[in-house]
Amino acid sequence: MITLIKNATIFDPEPIGSRDVLIAGERIAAIGETLDVSGRLVEHIDASGYILIPGLVDVLTHPGGGGGEGGFGNRTAAVGFEAFRDAGITCPVGALGTDSIGRSLDVLYAEIMHLRERGIDAHMLTGAYRVPPPTITGDIARDIALIAPVIGVGEVAVSDHRGSQPTPGELRRIAADARLGGTISGKRGVVLVHVGDGRRGLAPIVEALADSDLPTDCFYPTHVNRRRPLLEEAIAFARNGGFVDITVSTTPEFLDLGEVAARDALREAIAAGAPAERISLSSDAGGSLPVYRAGELAGHSAATPGVLLDLVQDTLREDPDFAAAIIAALTRNPARALGLQRKGRVAAGADADILLLDPDTYALTEVFCRGRRLLNQ
Ligand code: ZN
Repeated sequence: MITLIKNATIFDPEPIGSRDVLIAGERIAAIGETLDVSGRLVEHIDASGYILIPGLVDVLTHPGGGGGEGGFGNRTAAVGFEAFRDAGITCPVGALGTDSIGRSLDVLYAEIMHLRERGIDAHMLTGAYRVPPPTITGDIARDIALIAPVIGVGEVAVSDHRGSQPTPGELRRIAADARLGGTISGKRGVVLVHVGDGRRGLAPIVEALADSDLPTDCFYPTHVNRRRPLLEEAIAFARNGGFVDITVSTTPEFLDLGEVAARDALREAIAAGAPAERISLSSDAGGSLPVYRAGELAGHSAATPGVLLDLVQDTLREDPDFAAAIIAALTRNPARALGLQRKGRVAAGADADILLLDPDTYALTEVFCRGRRLLNQ
């Protein structure tokens, strides 16, 4: 299949103006000011004025659902193919979280393979909050080396009362095993670290890295915007060569408690000297969020994948000069952090993961993932 998208306004993630994009099979074959390809096998899409951005790379999702805190009644539902597609997330990374007892990596693997067969290029992490991490084969390095969709380990919890309170040595061993599995199989083998509400912040990661031969960016902390002091630690971590991830899903109560809204957190981090390319934004889709009524905990809802696309659309409307930074943090930056070299770009040779947005409403009108047209409306 060959598809020629004509005259789209492209963000790669920086704006590069109006271009034609040629998709051949699973990849972008060429980009140019005017590409001419004809023949019965070529489908033409007139995208004049439409905004074209890379498919979103979401480093933390819970495709099988999450939560379960406060009892089995609070388990959240699976996210599902349509929800990812309609949110423009062509590369979600699935993980277990708090609950690795009522939920398993085997089931997560099945969810990931379901998304792949439907056309979304999903990946996954082995492990969970707990240490030692649960695995599929019995070993972190073997999971990463031998199971194609497994690209790292996580979300390993630190500074959280629900985590295993891992020692620096335990974190080092997890990172070393992930790195070994990645080295063998040509993956980055990162450790996505859930940073909780605890007073120690990023200290467990910094201590694990001290006196080790591991590079700073083998640990990839997430939820770093949950408090301003933690965000400041994350800025220092990024300046020292790490990648950090900001969570977009939130609630009014979390913001009242001091969480920094995602766009503000990204802007503040860049202004404070964190390298913009070392910061990503993720949804935590499927993870549980507390619901309050009149100040009382009334149950749990689930974070949704749509928050990422909402953020892109709101930024295009309200703060267009910042849109490229937001799009980069949802595409190229997480792809680099995860070692997915063909993701997050609109460039020849990249996977044909492409979104088209309506020029007036910014509504998502087309989704391509590895050249397959998943949405056309
Ligand atoms: Zn988490």
